[in-house]
Amino acid sequence: MTTIRWGAATDVGQSRERNEDSYFAGDHIFVVADGLGGHRAGEVASRIAVDELARLDESAGTNLPDALEEAILTANRVVGERAASDPATAGMGTTVTALAIDGTVGYLAHVGDSRCYLFRDGAMTLVSHDHTLVARMVSEGTITAQQAESHPQRSVLTRALGTEPHLQVDIDEIPLAPGDRLILCSDGLSSVVPEDEIAASIGAEDDPQETCFVLIDQANGKGGPDNITVVMVVVDEVSAEDGSGAAGAGPVRAQDPARREPIGDSMLPARQRRFPKRALIWSVLAIAILVGGLIGLRAWANQSWYVGLDADTVTIYRGLPTDFFVSLRSVHERTALTIDGVAPYYHQRLREGLRARDLRHARAIVDAAPRATPTASPSASPSSVPPSSPSPAGSKT
Ligand code: CA
Repeated sequence: MTTIRWGAATDVGQSRERNEDSYFAGDHIFVVADGLGGHRAGEVASRIAVDELARLDESAGTNLPDALEEAILTANRVVGERAASDPATAGMGTTVTALAIDGTVGYLAHVGDSRCYLFRDGAMTLVSHDHTLVARMVSEGTITAQQAESHPQRSVLTRALGTEPHLQVDIDEIPLAPGDRLILCSDGLSSVVPEDEIAASIGAEDDPQETCFVLIDQANGKGGPDNITVVMVVVDEVSAEDGSGAAGAGPVRAQDPARREPIGDSMLPARQRRFPKRALIWSVLAIAILVGGLIGLRAWANQSWYVGLDADTVTIYRGLPTDFFVSLRSVHERTALTIDGVAPYYHQRLREGLRARDLRHARAIVDAAPRATPTASPSASPSSVPPSSPSPAGSKT
């Protein structure tokens, strides 16, 4: 049984409004897709690709290299058709880099400029080949690798899903060894953080989830100009033994299946699970807003008046009849009037509090409060009480 652990994280970065990257991490399928097109279209494209590949996580016993290629070609067709039929998504596309762990090997399927690195024995190598104009120019000897890093057209892709009907998919086989760490990432990491710094972070941290967060922080630390997505698989044990001996979808056990991430929007919890600087800042901000709000509320309450009841006594209060976490009122003066002296239909209004503009107005409300008719008086018929007597507290406003 091959055992793996994995981590995954995505971040919008520092200058993009939306995150057009998508990823998937399952039991043995791992995917990063970097959508292109803007106006939500990139998001749609990367999601289609990831969804298509995620299906393979459910199927065992398939020929994974073929299945990976088939899924990517299907996604290519779906993205292309959608872009052709929906003007809002015209021109959308996506990269895709998918890894399938299959017993003793990892199969890599790749289109575009997202990347797969293998970290083994303290050294990191790039396993995928960028399908970019500059990568082609480097291989043709037109420019050097160093020139490619700062080339103005370094983000121009020569291959992407959704942009052409006949897509060529790179399929590579990576024989696995215990201790291998495989990293899939969008160019928001690889074109921003130098490889030696990526390698140093991977070598320094054993926990794949923490490593993903560290790498995202590194990219953001360098300005985070693009969406950043990292999926990392740590291979703890490698074995083809599961008794079946069947080829394809070999035995793999993800040691932490509880960490399975859903796709798309719901990938946010991966970020939220951590409690980093950003969460702390938000907490402090929320408390500041609450405290600021309460201070403002107190100031407002201080200028407010109302007539209410303190036990049975009609009382003029400074403040508000309603509490917001704290009491916002103080007794200003108790009147000689008690609830028994007030008409019953008016009791509820007093309990709720009658707002006044100022102290004079509050006293006027007290003076105008309808008095209870003396009991046992023959004239105290209910009809003598106006059922909808206008409020003296300006409640019409
Ligand atoms: Ca990107």
